[in-house]
Amino acid sequence: MVDYYSVLGVPKDADQESIKKAYRELALKYHPDRNKSKEAEEKFKQINEAYAVLGDQEKRKQYDADGPEGFSRRYTTDDIFRGSNIQDLLKDMGINFGFGGDDIFSQMFGGGQQGGEVGGSILYRLDISLLESARGASKEIEIKHIKECDRCGGSGGEPGAKVLKCPECGGSGSVTVVRESFFGRIQTTTTCNRCSGTGRVYERKCRVCSGKGGVVATEKVQVKIPAGISSGTRLKLRGMGDFGRDGSGDLYIEIREREDAELKREGYNIIANAKVPFYTAILGGKARVPSLEGPKEVDIPQGTAPGSRLVMKGWGIKHFNSGGIGDEIVIVNVEFPKSMTQTERNLIEEFRKGREGEPSQRGGRRFGVF
Ligand SMILES: [Zn+2]
Ligand SMILES: [Zn+2]
Repeated sequence: MVDYYSVLGVPKDADQESIKKAYRELALKYHPDRNKSKEAEEKFKQINEAYAVLGDQEKRKQYDADGPEGFSRRYTTDDIFRGSNIQDLLKDMGINFGFGGDDIFSQMFGGGQQGGEVGGSILYRLDISLLESARGASKEIEIKHIKECDRCGGSGGEPGAKVLKCPECGGSGSVTVVRESFFGRIQTTTTCNRCSGTGRVYERKCRVCSGKGGVVATEKVQVKIPAGISSGTRLKLRGMGDFGRDGSGDLYIEIREREDAELKREGYNIIANAKVPFYTAILGGKARVPSLEGPKEVDIPQGTAPGSRLVMKGWGIKHFNSGGIGDEIVIVNVEFPKSMTQTERNLIEEFRKGREGEPSQRGGRRFGVF
């Protein structure tokens, strides 16, 4: 049982003004339309409940007298919110009441899980290498989720236990509640909490799962990663999320591609750099380049200019949804020696003489030193 004073973070002798102030701040922070964190909805509910009591002189007096325990035994959620001005207060704050078509309060406080018990979905982030995303892979991951209880097969009943008609709903599986709320008289038919809508309860609860039908388990899951997948893509493994009586949730695998030290991805193409000595760039020859399948040899055509891009057809990444495949683009970085031997120097000089003639014949060394 939570203490309403600590929920709002106010001292026991706080005046109405500071209670209201604390409530407004927290309501803005945790309203589920604004705060998408998992805890927000529960927190928002607590804040509203706390304010419905502490913000009302009479209810607060009762609460102080009974204490959290006694108060929660005496009053239902409906009692707590009866006559409350929370709706107006939130409106004043500009908080939207609409919540997927329903008002947020009937969703939160409407008494029970409408729409049955479907298990939650799980998100798992999986780091893969560039090669794995290019060619596809099969990876084993370990997830912690609620799985169907082996002992009772998800029924929640101890094997052999008698099945009884649910005393709460008389076997119909649903309960109709008429509530007086600040929206007026509301009649709601909801799934019975006790039997989750089945209309039946077991005489004895399963002793492994305590009647919940599911147990927390760590399991290994084999994930098939299709070739061509890119970072941020989510793979859905249907029914691999948390167990629920009315169906298990899904497991989402979010792919994150690790950066490669040598290769860069550009869509379905791969970009690589090749270091080529200047004489190979001039004469043509072979160069080793990194590729998805490890180092490979490529042909450098004669007279390749520095920065040229050579296209290696089909060395890239397989298309995600079709049979196509990308290319590898090799960027040629031509390397020049920082120093040369005299013989090497003479050879280059010879080359130049062949192109330009003797320096003296062209009016001096106007091209400067090599
Ligand atoms: Zn029932
Ligand atoms: Zn069980």
